[in-house]
Amino acid sequence: MNALAATSRNFKQAARLLGLDSKLEKSLLIPFREIKVECTIPKDDGSLVSYVGFRVQHDNARGPMKGGIRYHPEVDPDEVNALAQLMTWKTAVANIPYGGAKGGIGCAPGELSISELERLTRVFTQKIHDLIGTHTDVPAPDMGTNSQTMAWMLDEYSKFHGYSPAVVTGKPVDLGGSQGRDAATGRGVLFATEALLREHRKSISGQRFVIQGFGNVGSWAAQLIYENGGKVVAVSDISGAIKNSKGIDVPSLLKHTIEKRGLKALMGQIQLMQIQYWWKTVMFSSLRHLAVENANGIRAKFIIEAANHPTDPEADEILSKKGVVILPDILANSGGVTVSYFEWVQNIQGFMWEEEKVNNELKTYMTNGFKDVKEMCQTHNCDLRMGAFTLGVNRVARATVLRGWEA
Ligand code: GLU
Repeated sequence: MNALAATSRNFKQAARLLGLDSKLEKSLLIPFREIKVECTIPKDDGSLVSYVGFRVQHDNARGPMKGGIRYHPEVDPDEVNALAQLMTWKTAVANIPYGGAKGGIGCAPGELSISELERLTRVFTQKIHDLIGTHTDVPAPDMGTNSQTMAWMLDEYSKFHGYSPAVVTGKPVDLGGSQGRDAATGRGVLFATEALLREHRKSISGQRFVIQGFGNVGSWAAQLIYENGGKVVAVSDISGAIKNSKGIDVPSLLKHTIEKRGLKALMGQIQLMQIQYWWKTVMFSSLRHLAVENANGIRAKFIIEAANHPTDPEADEILSKKGVVILPDILANSGGVTVSYFEWVQNIQGFMWEEEKVNNELKTYMTNGFKDVKEMCQTHNCDLRMGAFTLGVNRVARATVLRGWEA
């Protein structure tokens, strides 16, 4: 089942639990606007190359639409649509005043030079600048993009509209980015995990952790787990995986992977392992897919969805039957967009916060999000994924009705 079908299925299940009117259900599902643009750039060798860029604006009942821009070869309209929809429910779960959107370009960023990436980002921004804005739609980084991408977007947008730092978030701190934004998704994952473990009378320091995916989110999560006394026993990325049952020295691993660009360079030094052999752990999933063939071998007790839609529905079913507790993406990784919200607030106020304030506020939002989701689980007698979906969908539905849009 593709990401859009799976996300829509979860939405429909939540709509049924909430007893939503069918007209309202339909209007919540259909995206507000879908944009598809051609982005042609000269490569460094002078040849021309064309890419397709997307921005799906899903819903704006609760505020400006918000969501990242993904650069990945497999970006397609269905995936962007699903991710935009997930942003609508995620911002509502986090209780920040936004709707949802997502964008992307079907490209392999690792194969483009810095100047090619800059040209591509600028052309994409030229094509969508009239449809984004501080109070309409606010992009941010996602897979394959970063603060530099946002700096180029801000600069290009400002050529048309004047300097507008709040039009994108996840910017470099020198251009009005927030302290703590780079680590925010990983830190939010840590806070959400703490809340979940507390409920099971456990704490970070007593647990063993497996980190799937070692990009921005996975590496920050690993570092913060390590700093809080958790034992990171395995880490994987697309090049391979390493394990050390005594606990990996995360700071030196980070140093190594930054220098050598990935885990691959470590192979041979630390034992290479198969995903099937992971022990009873808390597993952080910050990969694109947790496929069904992996689900059977997983022995983790908790899975924290640090990425967006990492678990295929078939895998989800197998894991739930095995009694694995899954902390769903729209709650677990909402720390990124929450600190994006803090960044936007700071830009609008023209007043920057200390990192400590950012992290404290983030903890409050993540803890409240978990508490609100648990309440929905009790009300509707459902698992955490449905608890998060019913919470998000209900908040958006209420705003939609209050604005008089449901008819
Ligand atoms: N790309 C991140 C996400 O999926 C952050 C989005 C944002 O900050 O707008 O939540």
